[in-house]
Amino acid sequence: MTVTSAQTLTLLAGVILIAATATIVWLAMALVARVAPRASLALACSNAAAAGSLTLHALRGQLPDTFTYWPSDLLIITSFALLGAAVSDITTRRLAWRASAAVVLIAALALLQLPYEGDLRWQSRIVSVAGASLALMAGLRARRSLGHRTDGRLSPAPLTLPLFLIAVLMGARAVETFINPGHTPDMRVPTGFNLVFLWGSLVLTLLQNATAAFMVMMRLILRIERLLERDPLTGTLNRRAFDAALEQAHAGFLRGRGYALVMIDMDRFKHLNDTLGHAAGDAALRQMVEELRPCIREVDRFGRLGGEEFCLLLTDTDLTGAALVAERMRMLVEEAPLRWAAQDWPLSASFGIAEAEPGDADARAVLARADAALYRAKSQGRNLVQA
Ligand code: GH3
Ligand code: MG
Ligand code: MG
Repeated sequence: MTVTSAQTLTLLAGVILIAATATIVWLAMALVARVAPRASLALACSNAAAAGSLTLHALRGQLPDTFTYWPSDLLIITSFALLGAAVSDITTRRLAWRASAAVVLIAALALLQLPYEGDLRWQSRIVSVAGASLALMAGLRARRSLGHRTDGRLSPAPLTLPLFLIAVLMGARAVETFINPGHTPDMRVPTGFNLVFLWGSLVLTLLQNATAAFMVMMRLILRIERLLERDPLTGTLNRRAFDAALEQAHAGFLRGRGYALVMIDMDRFKHLNDTLGHAAGDAALRQMVEELRPCIREVDRFGRLGGEEFCLLLTDTDLTGAALVAERMRMLVEEAPLRWAAQDWPLSASFGIAEAEPGDADARAVLARADAALYRAKSQGRNLVQA
């Protein structure tokens, strides 16, 4: 098969068109919709830099060389660095840019040392290796953070694949300059490699932008879900989410999986509020939740039922187990007073525990028993665990 210049030029125009369109879409995301504005803006700039670089590349010979060589190479490397920064912002909420900026700077300086004459293979190697390393760095960073930041909802392998493929494509371009020196640095030259490379660039530009859009959307969904199910003050499950978890646990109980509840109510909280103020009360609630966190396993659910009343749902746990957890929690709350306005205010809480029992038609029956036990703990003097 013979490759023609019309083919390579058309493909080059195709990549430019996709990158230019993506620039506009990401700009709208950043400035109009204000969805992940920082990452969207970085992606807009990355696409704009790619489109600009390839346009200058396509105009080599028509515009002065000062514009079409070094600036074009610098722009494409910057495009990869911006892509890495954007992916990092989406997955870790930090624009990790320092290492990438260093790569861009080193490559830019190295390119400045080389005269743009002859077959340009060294320039091509520097651009390709810089691009491959930037894509690889971005892929590895995203892979590390994706798994555990999203409760496993976003699997890292498919979402980082385009970045690794970009690294492979750029790596292949560097290797090609050794196999066929002088052929590849100009993407318009109709060679078999350029054809494959341009097709790869076209597909990966589309794929990488689509993947980034998907990740931005998933980040938004996860945030909305969190807003819907969390109590804003303490970060524990709100009443609605806790009730749902409880219902699910009871359905499990009917299939043979036991569970227990620990109901928690802070002691003399009204007095604290009235004496130190509402802000101190809020601080006490947050402090207690933080202190109790080590007692809560991954499989347990912790929710705020309202006011200063919380409930811990312990899966696969009986009354004895729940009593141990509650006693440990009671001691943790008692041990740490609230530090407020240079004073220590003693804190304590009362605990009522109950386990699901055969005759319990629904979770409300179990909750009512825990509540009754809590009431007993209050009437017997507080700072107690009762079953
Ligand atoms: P007891 O030892 O019997 O539990 O006494 P208590 O004062 O803790 O009990 P009560 O349920 O009567 O008081 C709860 C108080 O919690 C009433 C309300 O002012 C306060 N409260 C409810 N929600 C919040 C909140 O979000 N922040 C603050 N600071 N206070 C709250
Ligand atoms: Mg109370
Ligand atoms: Mg109360």
